Amino acid sequence: MKSLERDAGKVKRRVGKRPPPTAVAKAPAAGGKRGRLLSAPAIEEMFRRFAAGDPHPKSELEYVNPFTLLVAVVLSAQATDAGVNKATRALFKIADTPEKMVRLGEERVREFIKTIGLYRNKARNVIELSRQLITNHGGDIPRDREALEALPGVGRKTANVVLNVAFGEPTMAVDTHIFRVGNRTGLAPGKTPLEVELKLEKRVPPAYRLHAHHWLILHGRYVCLARRPLCERCVIADLCKWPGKVVQQ
Ligand code: SF4
Repeated sequence: MKSLERDAGKVKRRVGKRPPPTAVAKAPAAGGKRGRLLSAPAIEEMFRRFAAGDPHPKSELEYVNPFTLLVAVVLSAQATDAGVNKATRALFKIADTPEKMVRLGEERVREFIKTIGLYRNKARNVIELSRQLITNHGGDIPRDREALEALPGVGRKTANVVLNVAFGEPTMAVDTHIFRVGNRTGLAPGKTPLEVELKLEKRVPPAYRLHAHHWLILHGRYVCLARRPLCERCVIADLCKWPGKVVQQ
């Protein structure tokens, strides 16, 4: 949460500090809060373009079933998807169910994931959540937010990813990228991830809700970068309401 708040702070500071570059023009600043909010037609057009460019966006985390998806998302907190995949490829080959994970034991799980940040806590959580899945859910992943969030290491964002990817529910898992893109573009401005999430649920057209969080994550990860957004090759540059965006004239 703190890093997201810092991110929002950076956005604000950067808008104020960034000098207008030569040979490119700064987009005119929109006036007031209302002017910074994307209109419904602009949102429709934004997602139409995302969908045209990538009709079936996927999570970049590797998994083989809902259980390994849950574990991968738990491990991905404050870590990159690539780093998690590197560790889980071998782990999931021998432990792709809660029962196998418990049999493997905390110490061996720690060995597999020791390249990932906070691996000690994460190994403990993976074993404990596996135990709870066996005891409380017959070894299955519950399709229920409250039950998911009751598992160790599982917060609202992780529950949203699992509900979306494993069960096809139109949830919005707001990570640092979505938080930034939602705020910058005027799609779903908010001071907290929850505020952004609730706005996305209201503002994203129903036809695009299932894939919206993947499109926004990928856009934030590869185009709308935190430090130097690649506005010059952004497919929604003309729609984006960020006063700091840089567009070719
Ligand atoms: S125009 Fe720039 S700031 Fe706006 S969404 Fe695109 S990359 Fe991000």
